[in-house]
Order: sequence, then C-alpha cells, then structure tokens
Amino acid sequence: MLEELKATGQAALEQVRAAASEQELEELRVRYLGRKGLLTQMLRATGSLPPDQRPAFGQSANQIKKELDQALAEAQERLRAQAARAAFRPGVDATLPGVQPRRGHLHPITQTERLILAVFTRMGFAVVESPEVELDWYCFEALNMPPDHPARDMQDTFYVQEGVVLRTHTSPVQVRTMESTPPPLRIVCPGKAFRRDSDATHTPMFHQVEGLMVGPDVSFAHLKGVLISFVHQVFSPQVPVRFRPSFFPFTEPSAEVDIGCVVCGGDGCRVCSHTGWLEILGSGMVDPNVFINVGYDPDQVTGFAFGMGIERIAMLKWGIDDLRMFYDNDLRFLRQF
Ligand SMILES: [Zn+2]
Repeated sequence: MLEELKATGQAALEQVRAAASEQELEELRVRYLGRKGLLTQMLRATGSLPPDQRPAFGQSANQIKKELDQALAEAQERLRAQAARAAFRPGVDATLPGVQPRRGHLHPITQTERLILAVFTRMGFAVVESPEVELDWYCFEALNMPPDHPARDMQDTFYVQEGVVLRTHTSPVQVRTMESTPPPLRIVCPGKAFRRDSDATHTPMFHQVEGLMVGPDVSFAHLKGVLISFVHQVFSPQVPVRFRPSFFPFTEPSAEVDIGCVVCGGDGCRVCSHTGWLEILGSGMVDPNVFINVGYDPDQVTGFAFGMGIERIAMLKWGIDDLRMFYDNDLRFLRQF
C-alpha cells in the first residue's frame, strides 16, 4: 500500500511538471487531489490499515500531498508567464527614447581645403575656381610649356581629345584669372586635378590649392612671408620651414618648401625618409613668359605663385600614411574626423 502511494505520488509530480497548459494542470489536480482523486482516496483508506502501519503511511501521504501542491503552484506560475509572453505583440511604444538619426560631417579633404583657404583669405586672397576639363593652352602652353617642352613628361596627362585635357594641376585658373583681370591681384584656387598615377601616395584624382600674387613690387620676400605664415597657422608656430631650390616651367626662381617632420620632430623617421624634413609645396616667382602670355607687362609687375596637394597636407596634419584611405569611403576611417 505504501509503495503504491509513493508510485502514484511520483507519477503525479512528473505529470504536473510536464503539463503544457493550465487546463491540463487543472485536470491533473482533480485526478489526484479532487474529492474522488487517487491520492485523496488513498488517504481515506489510511483507517483500514493495520494500526502499526498507519503513522508511516500518513506521514508519507501528507509529504506527497505537500510536494504536489507546491508543484502545481509552480507549474501554474510557469504556464501563466509563458502565456503572457506569447500574448505580447511588439508595437510602437511612444514612451521609449527615439532613435537619433546619424549626423554626417565634412570629408577630411574638404575640412583641410577649408582650413587652407581660411588662412589665405585672412591674408587678403580671393578664392577663384575654373573648369576641370581644360584646353591645352591653359594647362600647358600659357604656363611656359610648349608641346615639345620636356616638362610635359613630368605629368601623365589624361587627354579628352586633341588639345583638350583633364587639368593636371590647378594652375590654369591663374592664367584665366590674369587674362580677365588687370593687376594687382591675390588669388587662391582650390580644385581637383587629374594624372595617370595610382599608388599609396598618388591617386588619379587629387586636390590642389594654388595661389598667385601679382603687383608692382612683389618679391621673393613676400613669397616667404606668406608661406611661412601659412605653415605656422596650419601646423604650428614652432615648426621649422626651409626653402629649397627647384624647377618649375612657370616660375623662376623656383623653390620647394619643406617643413620640419611633424612625426619625428626632425630626428628622422620612416615618414620623412630619415631626413627630418617633409616637402609640402612648390613655389616661385612667376616666369616673365607667363606674364607675356596673359598680356601683363613683365617690366611693370612681378609676382609669386605656389601650389600644394590638399591630400598631402591632410596626411601630414593627421598622420595618415596611405592616400587611398581618403577615397575608400570606409566609415571607420571617416568618422574619426
Ligand atoms: Zn620624420
């Protein structure tokens, strides 16, 4: 009798714990603990047992009943929580905080271009732009590079058709401006330039800023003053600047401008090829032939011109070692600016 009681109790517990619905649970409760339930009937039968077996049987029966009551309560709670989860339909909860739209920002090249232009416009330079598709005359000939000039080999040009090119530098702006504007003038010309070149430090399309100052007494001292001031404003007032003789077809004399390496501070590193110096721009006094080509009188005016790659300035300012990063559109990179 005691064994039967225990077996029935064990079966009841297992069924209750496996119950899949509240209805099934209620049926189990009636089946075991209802007025005619299996356990109830066994409890009633206690009286018919021999007296010496009654206490042990009664104790077990009460223990089983208690366990079953507890299992029923737990199962009910579990099934109610399940039902509540199933009934939940996600919808619009107006009390939740909204999703912020992601805000964009200017591309690092645009930021650098604006920084450069801000420095020169503060010094009285006007911003001028001109076409990206250019006549050979403006891109080369007027700049003292006739068709057989060896300097043309310095640049790999994209030709659109005979005599029409994608400009290889922004210098045509200077020619166009001088043709249409009498001296004196001070201009900076930002824009895209194109050359057949592609590696870690060259892209087929890149950005330049060129500058030109023309007047009756413009000297190399003006050139140095303007460019040193520019470097100090863009990088740091402490950065050393040097002018190194160079050659450009449209300026004479010509100078390349180096700054003390911003990475190693002049001690020498991989970025500066262990020289301690970084080239950042080209410059020079405008060649008299260029003035003649645009109708200026080289006996009346002198001038200086300079040009720099915006990508180069951005790379040095932020320590970026691969130019192509600017055009990969990798947001992990762009978001850092
Ligand atoms: Zn260095």
